[in-house]
Amino acid sequence: MPSLTRRFVLSIVALLPVAAAAPGASAQDPLEVVATTSMIADAARAVGGEAVTVRALMGPGVDPHAYRATRTDIAAMTRADLVLHHGLFLEAQMEDFLATLARRKDVVAVAEALPREALVAHDAYAGRLDPHVWMDPRLWVQVVERVADALVEALPSQEARLRANAADYLGEIERVAAYADEVLGTVPPARRVLVTAHDAFQYFGRAYGYEVRGIQGISTESEAGLRRIEDLVDLLVERDVGAVFVESSVSDRNVRALAEGAAARGRDVAIGGELYSDAMGEPGTYEGTYVGMIDHNATTIARALGGEAPAGGFSGQLVEG
Ligand code: ZN
Repeated sequence: MPSLTRRFVLSIVALLPVAAAAPGASAQDPLEVVATTSMIADAARAVGGEAVTVRALMGPGVDPHAYRATRTDIAAMTRADLVLHHGLFLEAQMEDFLATLARRKDVVAVAEALPREALVAHDAYAGRLDPHVWMDPRLWVQVVERVADALVEALPSQEARLRANAADYLGEIERVAAYADEVLGTVPPARRVLVTAHDAFQYFGRAYGYEVRGIQGISTESEAGLRRIEDLVDLLVERDVGAVFVESSVSDRNVRALAEGAAARGRDVAIGGELYSDAMGEPGTYEGTYVGMIDHNATTIARALGGEAPAGGFSGQLVEG
């Protein structure tokens, strides 16, 4: 973090009142929650219901690896009753601030509740674990449970309602995970190769039996070399992969270069669609919910790689592209 920003952050934290008095203590006074990613915010809204107000810092198309907190974000986090962030170094540019804030108030790194053995290490991401755990809905369930625990800790008198909301939301996640099993299983096994802009889909691949390749590494902060593009063109040609995918939160430049490289070798590789990797769709839309995000990705991937998926996807709400 640049020293000027750091000084600003430290000074604003120092000015904070020591603690907000009994946050969310009455029914008229919802708990103010700030979540870094939209996936965490979706869980907090679903579980918290009317007992919370939730602000997501990172909207559609925002890349969390590169995101820097704005002054408005910092003010919102310092004012909030509870801050939920992902952890596992996903919000790489916000780590210092979150660590400083955690000394003053409730700051929970929700993905760090996952057991170490459930997480994927990566050669090109030394010393770190792959943070993209939301891509496996059955793994994400445990993160949602951590969100629910944090809300119950903050609002103990509302535990029954919060737990009931969590059960409903977790049931919906289990149903979309089963839908993804079904549609992704219609892709012929030899064609289960997912090539995307950056390496966000390892957990998805592990969950659904797909080989996964990202042009950029685990973080979009790493550059993709020409050599990497050439290796992936080889893979597309050798495996007869029919489609590659762009991501809503990453430039499509490298993915298009890959399709062009394959075309130069006489292979027609389509852009299979845009996937939601590190951010969801527009707020207020189905794709702007976690379930809609998973539905969109599973449906888009299944169809582009030669499988089948019902019109409208899992729940009939998917906007057909
Ligand atoms: Zn990512």
